[in-house]
Amino acid sequence: MNAISVKNLTYEYEENIKAIDNISFDIPVGSFVSIIGKNGSGKSTLAKLLDGLLIAKSGEIKIFDLILNNKNIKAIRNKIGIVFQNPDNQFISTTVEDDIAFGLENRNIDSNKMQEIVIDFAKKVNMDKYLNKEPSNLSGGQKQRVAIAGVLALNCDIIILDEATSMLDPKGKEEIRQLIVKMKQENPSLTILSITHDIEEAYLSDYIIILENGKIIKQGKHKDIFSNLDELKKLGFETPFFITVKQELLKHGYDFSDCENINDLVEKLCQLM
Ligand code: ADP
Ligand code: MG
Repeated sequence: MNAISVKNLTYEYEENIKAIDNISFDIPVGSFVSIIGKNGSGKSTLAKLLDGLLIAKSGEIKIFDLILNNKNIKAIRNKIGIVFQNPDNQFISTTVEDDIAFGLENRNIDSNKMQEIVIDFAKKVNMDKYLNKEPSNLSGGQKQRVAIAGVLALNCDIIILDEATSMLDPKGKEEIRQLIVKMKQENPSLTILSITHDIEEAYLSDYIIILENGKIIKQGKHKDIFSNLDELKKLGFETPFFITVKQELLKHGYDFSDCENINDLVEKLCQLM
């Protein structure tokens, strides 16, 4: 079954300028998909269309078996958690704690349980020391951590992350990446749509969709996308760090082409020492 199914979707902010231009794709339940593309390629527009914040000019969006329309929008929003690109748009409460709790409050969760969930997710994103602080006084990266905690705490079927770690430093990005990979392992039916221009984030996903000027210029499984590095470069993307390390090792006679991830590689390297 597909968690998200998009058919011939087109969106124009202004007459005859297509921010999304007749795109179609399917995302099966439980997959981890990245949408990558340069600034202005239509990524955020697509995220807003999927959550019904923007209404398409033409085409169809289906979330599980529900067609996105006025009747189904509430049910659909309950299934999708979105972290938007600019975290400021996502804060309404006066404390970090209330902000993480905000989405949960609409879901009839008992208040003790709710506090437990809030603290748990604040810890997961390393923001538990800030629970009583005002969100407006946090740094951009800290705001992103809080926004991510608030959405992950909802336990939605689909999570959409729109450049959700763009303001974090490399270590912070890596922590969130690990958190998402872990959540995915704990809940295999969770569907993740990660919108990013960070190739390292995209490298973690099973399937990649590349957008340019509102069109899908390439989509494919992880292996297909990352086996053609020249093409990726032509499209404006760097080679992921993990592949670069493997290439450099190969130049020195060490072939680790069968390693699937950094942990595998570290383990094999350690065995050599
Ligand atoms: P991305 O998230 O990939 O950077 P966006 O979806 O934000 O791209 O933007 C896609 C295109 O739509 C861009 O050309 C952008 O200028 C235009 N656009 C985005 N938001 C608006 C808006 N509110 N009004 C008019 N044009 C917009
Ligand atoms: Mg964007």
